[in-house]
Amino acid sequence: MRTFFNFKETNYNPDKYLDLIKEEIKDYKFNTFNLGISIPSEKTIDEKEDIKLNFQKQLTSLIEEKLNIKKRNEYGDVNIVVDFNYNRIDYNITPVYVYGIYNKLQRNLPQTIDYCFKCKGKGCKLCDYKGVINKTSIQEKINSYFKEIFKNEDNKFHGSGREDKDVLMLGNGREFVLELINPKLREISLEELNKLLDKINLEEKDVLQISNLSFCEKSKIKEIKEAKHFKSYRAIVSCEEKIIQDKLNTLEKNKIIEIIQKNPKRMKKSRANIERKRTCEIINYNIINENEFELELKAEAGLYVKEFISGDNELTKPSISEIIENKCICKQLDVIYIHR
Ligand SMILES: [Zn+2]
Repeated sequence: MRTFFNFKETNYNPDKYLDLIKEEIKDYKFNTFNLGISIPSEKTIDEKEDIKLNFQKQLTSLIEEKLNIKKRNEYGDVNIVVDFNYNRIDYNITPVYVYGIYNKLQRNLPQTIDYCFKCKGKGCKLCDYKGVINKTSIQEKINSYFKEIFKNEDNKFHGSGREDKDVLMLGNGREFVLELINPKLREISLEELNKLLDKINLEEKDVLQISNLSFCEKSKIKEIKEAKHFKSYRAIVSCEEKIIQDKLNTLEKNKIIEIIQKNPKRMKKSRANIERKRTCEIINYNIINENEFELELKAEAGLYVKEFISGDNELTKPSISEIIENKCICKQLDVIYIHR
């Protein structure tokens, strides 16, 4: 947010600035603030000192007193800068961060806003000028509930990794942080937060379930993004030829397989073509019918499971196709547990 002023340059009357600030932030609830001043470089050192000592100090006291918000030396809920270079006041609102864990119970729901790959959100013929491919996402769903209360202008969704949109996220769920950008409200009681949680879980019953909601610090994002966890998956594998039990048994249970994986073909070419080494353990398998079996495995973070199953035209070695000597594809995949 930003307000411009055109008082005479010599006017350092803090009351006038207080009025402007009050008007701009009237719809917001802040507990703390920080006030900075940007002074034109042509001012002498004495003049700068004077502005700092008088104007900044006085305006700070006025904000504390009249707007009833506390000054903080570091970042506040709102960081106000009166900039005499450009005759404007800038307001930088610190986002509110909400931590939670989600389970995804419906397929074809992307984790984050699925921008059109052709126009990247601008709108084009392909996306019917909507800018997005999928109507909704976990991000948009969860944010919509928060937006009702916090009136945030925008949001960012930080997941601890992500599953493909056709993959369910079951078991103990996936951690996330929802970042509320420019919220009008900053906090609600634990009771209200739990009420919101119940509301989401009721209304999204067969789609999405949330747990462990709490407010958190920004540092939580890094923490959950950098965490590398093994994940257990359940896959339905479809084979080109009839499955032979003996061949299937070459998948040794509880044996750690070391896999060399090049970038999957489905990924954008722009990514550096690195070879990654990951491990995977076969937990269990069961024949469903002539050409399909269910496979449970535990994979290291970063393994492309669908490609490990198919082999991705030899880009992943070894693969389930290679081990059981039958061309396989992953027909369906679910994350069933994240080992954290
Ligand atoms: Zn488009």
